[in-house]
Amino acid sequence: MDTYKMGKQKHIALVAHDNRKQDLIKWTVKNADILKGHFLCGTGTTAKLISENTGLPVKAYKSGPLGGDQQIGARISDGEIDFMIFFWDPLTSQPHDPDVKALLRIAVMYDIPVAMTQASADFMLTSKLMEEEYDRNIIDYYSRIREKNF
Ligand code: PGA
Repeated sequence: MDTYKMGKQKHIALVAHDNRKQDLIKWTVKNADILKGHFLCGTGTTAKLISENTGLPVKAYKSGPLGGDQQIGARISDGEIDFMIFFWDPLTSQPHDPDVKALLRIAVMYDIPVAMTQASADFMLTSKLMEEEYDRNIIDYYSRIREKNF
């Protein structure tokens, strides 16, 4: 089992589909005091809107449909993003649905705390672990595959 250490300051990715952007903006404005103690990034449009509305620096990757979800997934697998708030739209299919699925898969693979609803974001952000170091355990999938003797 590999371990990834999360520092006291988390590297938080923020992503919202178009119909959920206002919800995420409101949530970030409400929680700006806590969020300012962490490193923020997000898909292009989401990052820009959150930065404009909160005044906080938010590193912007490409827009989701243009590859931003894949960029965030790559940063997660590099150990550079360790926390994600992803308000996806349960009522609309997206042109980049495969990328969304890939991002959620990578997040599970690397044991990333992921909030997909406002309530889960509230619970996660107010966890005492937000102010502590934390070791995420990465399942050793290679051994599991080897054990199957394909
Ligand atoms: P956006 O991308 O922030 O650039 O709109 C989000 C998404 O649709 O995944």
